[in-house]
Amino acid sequence: MAEKPKVAFYWCGSCGGCEEAVVDLAEDLLTVAEAVDIVLWPVAMDFKKQDVEALPDGAITASFINGTVRLSEHEEWVKLLRRKSQLVFAFGSCAHLGGIPGLANLSNREEIFRWYYKEGPTVHNPDGHEPTPEFRQNGYAFELPEFWNTARALDQVIEVDYYIPGCPPPAHIVKDAVMALLQGQLPPKGSVLAGSRALCHECPLNETKPEKLLLKDLKRPHEVIPKPDECLLAQGLLCLGPVTRGGCGALCINAHMPCTGCFGPLDHIRDFGAKGLGALASIVDFQDEDDIERALEKIPDPVGTFFKYSLPASLVQRRNMGGKTS
Ligand code: SF4
Ligand code: SF4
Repeated sequence: MAEKPKVAFYWCGSCGGCEEAVVDLAEDLLTVAEAVDIVLWPVAMDFKKQDVEALPDGAITASFINGTVRLSEHEEWVKLLRRKSQLVFAFGSCAHLGGIPGLANLSNREEIFRWYYKEGPTVHNPDGHEPTPEFRQNGYAFELPEFWNTARALDQVIEVDYYIPGCPPPAHIVKDAVMALLQGQLPPKGSVLAGSRALCHECPLNETKPEKLLLKDLKRPHEVIPKPDECLLAQGLLCLGPVTRGGCGALCINAHMPCTGCFGPLDHIRDFGAKGLGALASIVDFQDEDDIERALEKIPDPVGTFFKYSLPASLVQRRNMGGKTS
C-alpha cells in the first residue's frame, strides 16, 4: 500500500484559534486524518522534537505553521520543519503577516516585561522577578527560550510556499487548501489560497455601495446600530473590505460588523495598512481642520486599525528602536 503523505501542524506565538480552525473541519477532519499521516500536532498529539529530528530531510509532505515567530524556540522549530518539509504553509494571519501579536512591535522586550512582570495592575511580584533564558533554583537548572524584541511573520524567518489567510482561516478555506494538496492541484508557489478579488466583490451589501463614495463623517461600531441592508462604509463605518482579499464569505459583514482586514492584502499590494489609509483618504470629504480632528477622534488607534494583522509584514515592521530589532 502506498505511503500516506506526512503532515505536520505547529504553532508559534498564537491564541490557539488556528488550532480550532483545524478542528472546525468537523467530519472533514476525519477524511483528512484518514488520508494523511500526522507526524506532529502539539495541541492534540504527543510527538516530541526528537521524533521530527529523526525523520529524513524532506520526509514531511507539508507543514502547516501558525502563529507569530517571537521566541528562539519558534525559530528553531520552524527551521527544523522547513528542513524536514517539502512544502510549508503559513497558516492564519499571524504566520501570514505577523497577526495581532505583531502589534507588540510597538513596544520592545524591556517595556513588555516591565508591564507584564512589574507594573501591570494585576501583577503581584514583590521581588521583581523576570523570566531569563537560564534560571537556577535548589540545584536545578532551567532553560527558557529567548524572547525577541521583534515579532515576525513566518516568511521573515523561513521560506514559505503557500499562505492560508484569516484570523482564523475559515473551515472552507482550510479544506480547499488540504484538498488541493492531496489532489496535487496547488497553484504556483507563493500563492495566497483564497480569493483573488477584494472582499467587496463577495459582500452581500456591495450593490448598495455608491460608485463614488464621499464620507462626511466616520462612526465607531459601538456608536450605531448599522442598517442591515446598506454598505457599512457608506454608513460611515470604517470597513476595510475594498482593500482586503476576499474568500471568507464576508463573515463579519454578515454579522453587521465592518471588515477589519484579516485576509490581508491583494496580490499587487505591498503594504496593507498603507493601502487602507490611502483608500480612506480618497473617500473622506473633510473641508477644514475641525472636520479632520473629528475624524481622527473616530480612529483612536490608527496602527491597531490599519495594521491590526500586518504590522510585522508592513514596510515599517515595528517602532523604531535605533536599529536594535532582534
Ligand atoms: S465596504 Fe464593506 S460593507 Fe461595503 S461593500 Fe465593501 S465589504 Fe461590503
Ligand atoms: S470580513 Fe474581513 S475581518 Fe471578517 S473574516 Fe472576512 S476578511 Fe476577516
